[in-house]
Amino acid sequence: MTQRAEDYYVSLGMPKLPESYWQKTQFIKPRDRDVVCHASAWDMTMDGDVRTKMCIKPNEEEFTTIYHELGHIYYYLAYNNQPPLFQTGAHDGFHEAIGDTIVLGMTPKYLESIGLVNAQQQTNEALINAQMRMALAKVSFLPFGLMIDRWRWGVFDGSIKPDSYNKAWWELKAKYQGVAPVTARGEEFFDAGAKYHVPGNTPYTRYFLSHILQFQFYKSLCDAAGHKGPLYECSFYGNKEAGQKYWAMLGKGSSQPWQKTMKELTGGEKMDASAVLEYFAPLQTWLKQQNEGQSCGWQAAAAPAKG
Ligand SMILES: [Zn+2]
Repeated sequence: MTQRAEDYYVSLGMPKLPESYWQKTQFIKPRDRDVVCHASAWDMTMDGDVRTKMCIKPNEEEFTTIYHELGHIYYYLAYNNQPPLFQTGAHDGFHEAIGDTIVLGMTPKYLESIGLVNAQQQTNEALINAQMRMALAKVSFLPFGLMIDRWRWGVFDGSIKPDSYNKAWWELKAKYQGVAPVTARGEEFFDAGAKYHVPGNTPYTRYFLSHILQFQFYKSLCDAAGHKGPLYECSFYGNKEAGQKYWAMLGKGSSQPWQKTMKELTGGEKMDASAVLEYFAPLQTWLKQQNEGQSCGWQAAAAPAKG
């Protein structure tokens, strides 16, 4: 599975992973000890000793996670020639967006070309299903990604007090996600702790930003590859022009303001969601029809007891 993911990056003209990667990476869960299985990617020496740490199981979700983690690895490798201070993402969101951009390029056509799916009949229903599945992963993530750091920052600046950690958590979930617990969750619970990044103290806005950025990166690579037709059909697998543009951006690390790095790839200096809308245009049309006459949205009442 990892070799297959590597192959996508190599097809873009990027280097093969170093031999040490294959020797030192944790691919599967060790049998003799406890480990943290949450997938991560590491640049051990800022000089080519890159590794991933996962407990890979042979399923689709983990397959795409490998492509995501290799995005971090290729970013490391590309900016390894920068001075140490610049060996980091242009901003936090860039690092998380690199691999996900490649994941967007894992179109049905690509999956067919590597023998993972059979040739699909291109019906509108199949398209809407594929779009809905992707939207549940990418669009539904946005309010979640935002509320995690709204909560963390509230804790840090003191506006969320220890005696209302759980209350604030569920208020934010109601406000941004429209999600409420099945039964009341009082302060005897600490539901935020179930999210890896909270006890792990990992900033989360990077993922929110990444979910906007990756569609902008994707569109730019599609343009570089000369893609014609609807955006969601674009795969740049094997396209050296797209790969060269991407590799050049990765190599900049944080050696210049992110706006400049962004402009070199996308032509613009602003993060915006227009590429998200372009990608999901068929689904948006379908949803408008389905929801005609309905009033959408929710009342943000946090506690179920309030009814
Ligand atoms: Zn990541």
